[in-house]
Amino acid sequence: MTGPLLAADLVTLRGEGWSVGGAADVLSAHQIRRGDLDARSAELLGQWADRLDPVFRAQAVDLRCEKINQLLVSGTALPYLTTHDGLRPHLHFASDAQDVVARVRAVTAGGLALFAVESEGARLGVCQRDGCPVAFVDTSRNGRRAYCSAKCGNYDAVRRHRAPISRR
Ligand SMILES: [Zn+2]
Ligand SMILES: [Zn+2]
Repeated sequence: MTGPLLAADLVTLRGEGWSVGGAADVLSAHQIRRGDLDARSAELLGQWADRLDPVFRAQAVDLRCEKINQLLVSGTALPYLTTHDGLRPHLHFASDAQDVVARVRAVTAGGLALFAVESEGARLGVCQRDGCPVAFVDTSRNGRRAYCSAKCGNYDAVRRHRAPISRR
């Protein structure tokens, strides 16, 4: 599940304020090997995050699949099975020899595609609270998550409650 979670965190960081250090922290949180970034790599990753963004924002399954297909074209090459580090067999979508930007593109594009198969194109989203930049993978039981956190959900519930009826 690294791909979709990493993609969500990159999109979120883009919304919060992109930085080389922030991007490197996201990579290390997801155990991306050799994840140290120079300014140029961080910039390229930021551009990639902008392309991941519509996958989380898409309202329709067809559109989401189309966006993921575009990522697959740009981000992946010859998938292969690997059992590195004693892990269960899993797919890699880029050679280990490639640089960190290429590997992140591959793991996010390939991972989102695999996830979309399992989730029937759903369960990817962005927080519905205005101004909240968080993108998420919805692992809730019913798959209807609208907010990144209870905090954002409560904030919106209070705001709706206070809004004049005519503006609802
Ligand atoms: Zn692996
Ligand atoms: Zn939120």
